[in-house]
Amino acid sequence: MTGRSGDVAARLAAVRDRIRQACDDAGRDPDDVTLVAVTKFFPASDVRILADLGVTHVGENRHQEAQAKAADCADLDLVWHFIGGLQSNKAAAVASYADVVESLDRAKLVTGLQRGADERSRTLDVLLQVSLDPPDAAGRAGAGPADLGDLAARVGDAPMLRLRGLMAVAPLGEDPTTAFARLAEIRSGFVADHPDAVLLSAGMSGDLEAAIAAGATHVRVGSAVLGSRPSVH
Ligand SMILES: *Cc1c(COP(=O)(O)O)cnc(C)c1O
Repeated sequence: MTGRSGDVAARLAAVRDRIRQACDDAGRDPDDVTLVAVTKFFPASDVRILADLGVTHVGENRHQEAQAKAADCADLDLVWHFIGGLQSNKAAAVASYADVVESLDRAKLVTGLQRGADERSRTLDVLLQVSLDPPDAAGRAGAGPADLGDLAARVGDAPMLRLRGLMAVAPLGEDPTTAFARLAEIRSGFVADHPDAVLLSAGMSGDLEAAIAAGATHVRVGSAVLGSRPSVH
C-alpha cells in the first residue's frame, strides 16, 4: 500500500493498537470498544480508504459536509454518526442520512429528528450529549447532567428515536481522567434509570485511553487516524 492509503493504514493500525492496549490496561474486551473514525474536513476518498481498511463507523460534525459525503459513499456499508452541534431547523435533514445522532442536547431537537427518521421509515439511534463543563462555561455544548432525565423522557415519547446512551467531550484545560471519572458517575446514574442506554461515546485522539478506562464503548478519533485537519476547507 502506498501514498495516502499506506499513510492512513499505518495511522489506523497505531490507533487500533492504542485501543487494544487501553482495553488491556482496563481489563476490558477490545470488542466492546468501537472506533468511530472522524472524517470531517477530509474527502470522501478517505472514507473509502477507511472502509477498505475495515472501518465501519464514521463520524461527521457539519451537516452539509456530512450529507454530501454520506451520499457520495452510499454504496459503502457504513454507520454514520453525527457528532456536531445541531441546529433545530437542520435536525430532520441530519436524520435523513445519519444512523446515530450523538449530539442531542436539548428537547427542541427531538421533533425534527423524529420527523426525519419517520420520513426515512427508519429508527434513529440517539445519544444524549452531556456537558462536563462548569454550568456557566462559555460555548458549552451538551445538556447539563440534571437535564438528562427530562431529555430522555422526550426521546422516549418519540416513536422513531431509540435512546442508546450518552456522549461527552472532555473540557479543554482539564485532566481528561478527572473529567471522564465524572462522566462515569453520571453514566451510572443514567443507566440505572435507562437500562438499555448503555453506550458511552467519549475519547478522541488525545484522550482515548482515559475514556476507555472510564468505560467508553465508542471512541471518536479523527486526527490520529487521518492526520491533522486542513485549517481551510
Ligand atoms: C473532531 C471531533 C472529534 C475528533 O477529534 P480528534 O482530536 O481529531 O481525534 C471527536 N469528537 C468530536 C465531537 C469532534 O468534533
